[in-house]
Amino acid sequence: MQDALKLLRQSGLKITPRRRAILSEFSDSSIALSPRMVQERLKLQFSRCGLPGIYRNLEALADCGVLVRLAGFGRQRSYALCRYSEKDTLHYHQIICISCGRIGRLHECVWHEGMKVDGFTLVSHMVQLQGICASCASTETEK
Ligand SMILES: [Zn+2]
Ligand SMILES: [Zn+2]
Repeated sequence: MQDALKLLRQSGLKITPRRRAILSEFSDSSIALSPRMVQERLKLQFSRCGLPGIYRNLEALADCGVLVRLAGFGRQRSYALCRYSEKDTLHYHQIICISCGRIGRLHECVWHEGMKVDGFTLVSHMVQLQGICASCASTETEK
């Protein structure tokens, strides 16, 4: 949370009560949150919180690297907190449970800047993995 706020400041984004509230929702959540889910949670604190404003804030937070965008979950974009608490340089990718939205992490990655792939020199990459988490898998087999 403190690291996230620091990152926000460094990117020149104002720390508004809403952004602070959004970040605390994400840090309390082990699952990815969609804009609608964020709205539901913020409604309890703010009388006025429209979805367009939530979208804008989530996008701004994703642009400065506090949140990571996750595509295709429930056909709607969702977001999760980037965890900076360990080490800034630690490279990892997210794996998301397609059943409950839980976020896991993958530290093995074969791609790195400057490597050659099919004649291309790699400058960046985006990887998102989807799966079934252990707890969802075990409730599946109980049925
Ligand atoms: Zn799950
Ligand atoms: Zn990677």
